[in-house]
Order: sequence, then C-alpha cells, then structure tokens
Amino acid sequence: MSSLTDKTAAEVYDCAIVGGGVAGLTLAIQLAQSGRRVVLFEKETYPFHRVCGEYISMENYDFLCRLGVPLAEMNLPVMTRFTLSSPSGVALHHRLDIGGVGITRYELDPLLARLAARHGASIHEGTKVTDVTFADEQFILTTSTGSTFRARTVCGAWGKHANLDGKLKRPFLAESRQGRQFVAVKYHLQLDYFPAATVEMHNFRDGYCGLSPLPGGLTNCSYISDLRNLRAHGNSVAEMERQVLMQNPLLRPYIEAAQRGDFTPVVISQITFRERSTVDQHVLMLGDAAGTIAPLCGNGMSMGMNAGFLLHPLLLDFLAGRISRAALEEQYTQQWRQLLRLRITAGRLIHQVFGQPQLTSAGIQVLRRLPFLTDFILKQTHGQAY
Ligand SMILES: Cc1cc2nc3c(=O)[nH]c(=O)nc-3n(C[C@H](O)[C@H](O)[C@H](O)COP(=O)(O)OP(=O)(O)OC[C@H]3O[C@@H](n4cnc5c(N)ncnc54)[C@H](O)[C@@H]3O)c2cc1C
Repeated sequence: MSSLTDKTAAEVYDCAIVGGGVAGLTLAIQLAQSGRRVVLFEKETYPFHRVCGEYISMENYDFLCRLGVPLAEMNLPVMTRFTLSSPSGVALHHRLDIGGVGITRYELDPLLARLAARHGASIHEGTKVTDVTFADEQFILTTSTGSTFRARTVCGAWGKHANLDGKLKRPFLAESRQGRQFVAVKYHLQLDYFPAATVEMHNFRDGYCGLSPLPGGLTNCSYISDLRNLRAHGNSVAEMERQVLMQNPLLRPYIEAAQRGDFTPVVISQITFRERSTVDQHVLMLGDAAGTIAPLCGNGMSMGMNAGFLLHPLLLDFLAGRISRAALEEQYTQQWRQLLRLRITAGRLIHQVFGQPQLTSAGIQVLRRLPFLTDFILKQTHGQAY
C-alpha cells in the first residue's frame, strides 16, 4: 500500500474515501475496478480488531465474490440456525433461512484493503483525516501527517462517530448527547462446546449479547449494553458482566469462560442510534456514518456494503458529467432511504423490546407459537442478494 512521499499531492482524485471499514473499502474496490482514481484514508493500521459480531449475511456473498474475496476457499463457518433467549432464559430455537458466514474483521478488512490497492486505489493507513472543506467544486482534505489532498467527491465512511462529525457540524450530534448511550464489547472465545452453524442471541437487562462461530474454532461473543449498566457497576466491565449479563442462565457459561480465559475484550462507547443525514456539506455518507442500526437487530456490514453498491454507479454518472452534484446527492439520498430506512426502523423497533425482561419473555413465547412471524422478523434484519 502506498505511503506519502510529498506533503501536498498535486493529483485531483475522483473520489476520496474517509474510513477503511467494510463500507469504505468495498466502495474503493468498485471505483478502482471502474478505472477511477480513488484515495482512501484509515486512521488505524491493518490488521486490527474491531467490536463487531463478524456475521456476514448471505445477501453479500455474491457481491463480495465479485469484488474478488475468495469466500468459497476460506472455509468459513456457515450459520443456518438461530437461538434467542430472554433475560430469564426463556428460549426460542429457529432455522435461519437466509443465514450468513463468520469471518473476523482482523482478516476481512486488510484483505479488502489489499484488493483495493491491487485495483489501483491509493490506501493510506495510519492516516487520520482532520478536516474536509469544499470550495469551487473541489474538496481539500487535511490529514494527521500534515498533508493535503484534493478530490472531486468525498465519501464519509468513518463509522459510528468520528472527529469529522463535529467538524461538519452534523445535526444528529446535538440530539445524541441527550439520548440513550450504549457501550459495546467483543471477545473471541475458544470454546469446544459452542453449537455448530448457530447464531445465539441472549438478552439481559438493557442489552443483548450475540454469539456465532468464526474460523479456527473461535466463537465471537459481542454485546451491547445501556451505558447505565456500566455506570451502575463502577465503570467495571467485569462487574457489569457478573451482575447483569450472567443473570441470564444461557449466557452465563459464555461470560464465565470469557472472564476465566485470557481474553482481552475490545470495548467501544458513545454509541447512539439517532437518525443521521446521508449528505452533509456535500460529503456523501455511507455505512454507520449514514445510519447506525442496532447491531444485533440487523446487519450493519451489509447495510454499509449496500450503500456503496448504490453509490458506485451514481458517482460514475457524476464523474462522467451525466448528472449534476445536486442530482447525485438527491438520488443517493432517495435510493438509500428506499433500500435501507425500513431496515433501520425495523431494527430500532426490535431494539426497543430487547433488553426489557418481561417484554422479551412475552415476545419469545408469542414467537414460539407463530413460527411464520419469526421468519418475517428475521427477514426484516436481512436484505436481498445484490
Ligand atoms: C456489538 C456489535 C456487534 C455487531 N455485529 C455485527 C454483525 O454480526 N454483522 C454485521 O453485519 N454488523 C454487525 N455490527 C455492525 C457493524 O460492525 C458495523 O455496521 C460496520 O462495522 C460498519 O462499517 P463501516 O465501514 O461503516 O464502519 P467501521 O467498520 O466502523 O469503519 C470506519 C473506519 O473509519 C476509520 N476512521 C474514523 N475516523 C477517521 C478519520 N477521521 N480518518 C481516517 N479514518 C477514520 C475508523 O478507524 C474505522 O476503521 C455490530 C456492531 C456492534 C457494535
């Protein structure tokens, strides 16, 4: 991958992408495959661990293969069953028709970055974008390395929250400070008893935890909890796990294993689910930067990749002069809403119920009697192949 040699790149890129998660990287590959000059900035250095359930819904399978990800050769676990439990341990077991595969972000993200670079994208890892300004139909990006870059379009794929949200004065920020905040934690567990081909989701008071298999016999265990749970237990993750998560008898053995083993959790905070805009100051947002879905109620990675899939042909039309900037922004916003807003709303509704002990238990009892309703809800959290 390229590194900076001069402080001010003379080149004007067709597209600058800020953020090298699945949303930004898959868009970079598509644009580079189309012969466009793309630069992508990632503040971290690959490979690195992220808080994520690492379950990729099957709707993305063909898309990722088209980008060059050799999924069929990677011997990934495939999930076809689903278990859901309430905080008191009332459980539902169901088939997962659409299903998904497990792959660590530690492996997937650098793989995508290498593919983007191979197609000609300029990837700057360890480089944080500190400012983006727009004037005279051109963007100027300033980075932590003291360099500036110019681009005709900029895509914001910087995830749930980043320095640039504040720089661009994004409207959702003010509301987020007043609303509910969440903390999320991930472990990779080495368990020899986790059921194959199964995704488990266990609720606890004001939160829920997902478990699913990964390559190499690992199990992903990631959860999201209302920040109040952490504060109530002296800001200690271990104490919150003991006092809150372990109250669910189906979740207890996994959390005990996590605490017994030498597993370092990855933790993130300041998560909110406020509605966001898809365009701010002409920057086109995708992935979590455009709309964060309650993580275990939908597939955030799919939504990020779907957004890039929508954006790619529109960017090509704009760059070729077939549509104006205003049309690019309007059409992207419309198409994004049409495709993804319903999923975000469904996710928010499910999220309201999860973590409420009585509501979750009652909901699971109903679902046990009405399997078609379970199928319907699961369908809302997955999309169509594209
Ligand atoms: C507990 C939990 C479990 C989840 N489980 C799943 C799951 O099983 N399946 C699923 O599909 N989704 C899941 N998700 C959601 C999924 O992780 C996200 O939707 C997805 O990672 C979003 O991808 P993204 O590319 O938009 O952002 P990210 O993957 O967050 O990438 C954004 C990148 O931008 C970089 N960045 C930020 N600011 C700058 C800057 N100024 N300059 C340069 N780089 C910058 C960051 O370092 C980061 O690497 C889960 C989320 C959580 C919290």
